[in-house]
Amino acid sequence: MLAGCVPADTDSMTGYAVFGTEVEVHLRDTRPRESQAAYAEVGRLLQRLHRDLHPWEDGALMDLNAAIAAGERHETTPEIVELIEAGQALEDATEGAFNPAAGALVNLWGFHTSRYPITDPPPTPAEVAALLDRTPSLRDLSLDGPVVSSANPAVRLDFSGLAKGLAVRRVCERLAGYEIGAAMVNAGGDVMVCSAGQRPWRVAVRAPGGGVLDTLEIGRPLAVFTSGNYYRYLEFDGERYAHILDPATGYPLDQVIQATAIDPDPLVADAGATALVVAGPDRWRRIADALDIEAGIVIDADGGVSRLDSTVVAGR
Ligand code: ADP
Ligand code: MG
Repeated sequence: MLAGCVPADTDSMTGYAVFGTEVEVHLRDTRPRESQAAYAEVGRLLQRLHRDLHPWEDGALMDLNAAIAAGERHETTPEIVELIEAGQALEDATEGAFNPAAGALVNLWGFHTSRYPITDPPPTPAEVAALLDRTPSLRDLSLDGPVVSSANPAVRLDFSGLAKGLAVRRVCERLAGYEIGAAMVNAGGDVMVCSAGQRPWRVAVRAPGGGVLDTLEIGRPLAVFTSGNYYRYLEFDGERYAHILDPATGYPLDQVIQATAIDPDPLVADAGATALVVAGPDRWRRIADALDIEAGIVIDADGGVSRLDSTVVAGR
């Protein structure tokens, strides 16, 4: 009887082109007017984060990098402060496998581009060694409120391995201010369930090279992040070099070709996925343990799949 007065609750989706991918926000059981307002606010938020955290185009992160190189103190944004603080703990827990201060190394390999595959020659061993000697770490940074200072001018911040985690965290926080039945964010295959309502969300984990590895049923707030070494790479003289680098050697990794990290904290899941690729077959379980992630899936170069605590992925 009232159906004509109040627009019905519906399911909907809006996509945003940010962070070099398509970020989709899915809402369920929500009045259209409420969804529209939420999508508009999320769009403004994502555009701002995309600009502020961009690792090679002008914005707040580049401003901070320039100040660090010049040995100057610099006031930065609340998001970058949050990334530095979370990143310091994540760098420690991963034994430095995850190191967002090693942006100069990422740049040396030419990975500060949106055009893949890269076909330029790789850097020389001497160039790589010169950067390793300067051992940048997030621990070189100190914070005084929003003011950052660095004890090491070689620090170049690159939060590409953490930005999507922060973005989905912020999107969920914003959506909590709306009357929404359930919400899920899919940032190019990296997923955060903000809320599930009555029905679990079905979340696909991609298989290396295409297709679906696992479909998870998630009925509570949980992040599922995957890093792989085959979408973004440099190829030269028949050799392939992946965009995830080992900060200890300065070289790309090839022993783990894809890793998925599952945790309620999307920053832990995002950094975790990258770190498990770096950690490799011998070390990934130890690092997963130190990060205390709820579950993980690691695929080695031969296609072998290892799972850590597969019960969690049922979402209960
Ligand atoms: P994707 O989601 O594209 O697979 P990741 O979340 O794994 O990416 O992040 C990879 C990006 O992080 C790289 O493109 C580079 O900018 C940066 N990066 C590469 N190696 C490391 C590392 N060891 N620690 C932290 N960031 C890294
Ligand atoms: Mg990552």
